[in-house]
Amino acid sequence: MKKNISIIGSGFASISAACYLAKEGFNVTVYEKNVQLGGRARQFEKDGFKFDMGPTWYWMPDVFERFFADFGRNPSDYYDLERLGPAYRVYFGEQDYIDISDNLEEIKSTFEKEEPQSSAALTDFLKKAEFNYEVAIKDLVYKPGLSPFELVTRSTVLEIPQFIGTIHDVAKRKFKSSKLRQIIEFPVLFLGAKPSMTPAFYSFMNFADLSLGTWYPKGGMKSVVDGMITMAKELGVSFMTNANVDQIITGKNKEVKGIKVNGEILSTELLVSGADYAHTESLLPEELRMYSEKYWQKRVMAPSSLLFYVGLDKKLDNVLHHTLFFDVPFDEHARAIYDDPMWPKEPLFYASFPSMTDDSIAPAGKEAAIFLIPLAPDLEDTEELREQYFDIIMTRLEKLTDQNVRSSILFKESYCVEDFKNDYNSYKGNAYGMANTLLQTAFLRPKLRSKKIKNLYFTGQLTVPGPGVPPSLISGKLVSDLLIKDQ
Ligand SMILES: Cc1cc2nc3c(=O)[nH]c(=O)nc-3n(C[C@H](O)[C@H](O)[C@H](O)COP(=O)(O)OP(=O)(O)OC[C@H]3O[C@@H](n4cnc5c(N)ncnc54)[C@H](O)[C@@H]3O)c2cc1C
Repeated sequence: MKKNISIIGSGFASISAACYLAKEGFNVTVYEKNVQLGGRARQFEKDGFKFDMGPTWYWMPDVFERFFADFGRNPSDYYDLERLGPAYRVYFGEQDYIDISDNLEEIKSTFEKEEPQSSAALTDFLKKAEFNYEVAIKDLVYKPGLSPFELVTRSTVLEIPQFIGTIHDVAKRKFKSSKLRQIIEFPVLFLGAKPSMTPAFYSFMNFADLSLGTWYPKGGMKSVVDGMITMAKELGVSFMTNANVDQIITGKNKEVKGIKVNGEILSTELLVSGADYAHTESLLPEELRMYSEKYWQKRVMAPSSLLFYVGLDKKLDNVLHHTLFFDVPFDEHARAIYDDPMWPKEPLFYASFPSMTDDSIAPAGKEAAIFLIPLAPDLEDTEELREQYFDIIMTRLEKLTDQNVRSSILFKESYCVEDFKNDYNSYKGNAYGMANTLLQTAFLRPKLRSKKIKNLYFTGQLTVPGPGVPPSLISGKLVSDLLIKDQ
């Protein structure tokens, strides 16, 4: 008889871990406090509109393939993928935008048109980025972060200069055009840190962006969650929703004995938590926590966000499925997130219109719109501020895309710092966990295994490898490999 394992939370990392552990024969039950499964990748539905509440960009399809292949399956057994072409649009001003194609040769022509000689610079840059992708995504991120020596390989030792320089330095060196520099710098924002704080080695994100492409799972990111849950159930995993874990019960020998779920004590032999790390430790007696409040205070958290989910009574013009609005200074917004936390004076924002690709997302002739403004974690969050910023981005959207949007709004829902705290027990209301800066990478991140309690493990975007859906899938594999080895 294999042991019972309880898993806290049902984000990508938890579901991934649940699949690997069930495949190994453990008896796995997932406890999720919310009504819906999927963690930050829940979907909000209203009047025939569907909105992915969290992730919307499906990058690194090879990581998803590798995940499903571990169970003898393919992503296509569970959901349909489409490569978006163009992948996305970036606005820099009125009638001033760049579309990123789904074809590398076309992207090079776009670069060349913007800045002579830049296509050669891009080719050169992507050669390195591809090498970094091979080293990082195919190998390094699958290391459990137990020791610094995991990072010492022939390839990484030769690449030490890339850990000293930053993405910002490289973009500046390679491209004169500020627009092209922003296109090169934007993907590392997914790692939760400033391009000027992110090692050049992370250019593998540019390879993911420009070479591997932006994909869309039909039905939205929720289809990926649903697919993984179907597979988990096929493997024997049980899911409990509306199941808030209030406390972790420990025994005399510094071991987990059980969890208190909605006030009821349930025994468990092993515990994995995919809930936010600091929250999980707050469920333990203080002396059994590995990291103090002081430790968390000193970490660079990834940004929080202000989001709007908007139902529109018409189809929009002059936008693409993914549209970025970089028509205001990038550095000033970044400063308001990382250096001097405050609401940005002029926010950059991102908009997603999945109903442009997928008819199942909105009623015929209507558009589902998601808007996202990245914010410093733990900012004051009030209804008035949300409204004020909605107004700012609507004014810019209407002006830049030359159309009236406000008059077509059927409804809108907002989501911000306080919602992240209340819904996910997120530390400081972070949206993407803890940033992947050089000093918060690999063995320098919070550990997968508790050093104080022998049968307690952690997974998810706050531990290794870091924020994002693909890393969360990998995190679930890493924690289960470790647990299986320990057993
Ligand atoms: C707005 C937004 C946009 C994003 N965009 C992208 C994107 O485009 N592409 C991309 O790759 N990534 C994106 N990300 C990041 C990505 O969504 C996350 O990195 C990933 O989903 C995190 O998964 P996780 O398993 O670590 O944790 P989570 O999804 O946070 O799951 C943790 C779960 O634990 C539950 N929980 C917490 N406490 C308890 C408790 N006491 N009892 C029971 N359950 C509990 C929570 O309710 C939650 O369901 C985005 C994130 C956000 C928020």
